[in-house]
Amino acid sequence: MMQFRDLHRQYEALKPAIDAALLAAAASGAYIMGPQVAQLEEQLAAYVGVKHCVACANGTDALSLALMAWGVGEGDAVFVPDFTFFSSAEVVAHCGATPVFVDVEKSTYNISVVDLEAKYAALPAGLKPRAVVAVDLFGLPADYAALQAFASRHGLLVLEDAAQGFGGSIDGRMACSFGDIATTSFFPAKPLGCYGDGGAVFTDNDEWASLLRSFRVHGKGTGKYDNVRIGLNSRLDTLQAAVLQVKFKAFEDYELDAVNRVAALYDSHLKGRVATPHIPDGYRSSWAQYTVQLPDRDAVKQALQAEGIPTMVYYPKPMSAQTAFAAVAPLQGPCPNAAELASTVLSLPMHPYMNPDEVAFVSQKLLSAI
Ligand SMILES: *Cc1c(COP(=O)(O)O)cnc(C)c1O
Repeated sequence: MMQFRDLHRQYEALKPAIDAALLAAAASGAYIMGPQVAQLEEQLAAYVGVKHCVACANGTDALSLALMAWGVGEGDAVFVPDFTFFSSAEVVAHCGATPVFVDVEKSTYNISVVDLEAKYAALPAGLKPRAVVAVDLFGLPADYAALQAFASRHGLLVLEDAAQGFGGSIDGRMACSFGDIATTSFFPAKPLGCYGDGGAVFTDNDEWASLLRSFRVHGKGTGKYDNVRIGLNSRLDTLQAAVLQVKFKAFEDYELDAVNRVAALYDSHLKGRVATPHIPDGYRSSWAQYTVQLPDRDAVKQALQAEGIPTMVYYPKPMSAQTAFAAVAPLQGPCPNAAELASTVLSLPMHPYMNPDEVAFVSQKLLSAI
């Protein structure tokens, strides 16, 4: 059966380099914060075009570390798209702040700045607006020109959740450079993934970077046993950094181009027949997902399953409908686009190692199922 994201094919392509990197890390004995971690941080910061990259244990911690560096907490409101992965909003509630859900654009799946204005204007008294979490959903950067204009008008910070967006760009400027702080995830299925959990935080701000490095290791001060703030244990393993160094090279050399070719092929088969992803002028996606919208989504999913084609529903429930937020995020205004997308979206098999025959096969079966 076809794989939704074929990580085994990637391993086969990179096996000699990955095996060597893993064995070298194992033999080195420097399992925690080995030299690979700092090297990777430098490589990623240079690629993204920001001053600091702080690697950490996963993409969720990366978001938490950013909110900790900003001192976001009780009484603060943080705007979050209603249509995203749970983490984007979970971290807000986890630090004691209130997530305020904002609708998304149906064409890009990203936060609607028009609805952001509306939700901002309707904020209940007693909540202090602090930040906007903008998610680069499915690999496409959000509308950062409009977001930064909104944020500076109201004195808010922008946190770019690029867990799915690493490698995307707007007019040549890379994702993970748009937020005041940006984060990504190295979960295996993300555009740049490792062989377990991993994440990173990016910023140009020196003061925040040193806070992030402190919070990452138990709020350390000058030395290991000098703890000046309450932090986390959230480092990236040396082994994962070693894998990422190999995978990052392939990502930069050809995977990002390859996955864009796969997306263009899907477009050529499907455009005009179903609602395909919209990439605005000047934008480039890193294609964490290729997601279409179908009125009879569930029937199509079943038909494809019967043909041996795996598909995924990202996401079946908007944030505002999640049980976990019922108590911590009351008083939410409606997000009709997010509600509709939850019942129409379908993500198709997508990865840089998919061949044209496979794309044609999935497309043909999809078209005959609708
Ligand atoms: C995957 C993901 C995260 C969390 O990353 P983990 O490494 O799994 O903790 C956060 N936000 C979005 C949008 C994601 O897709």
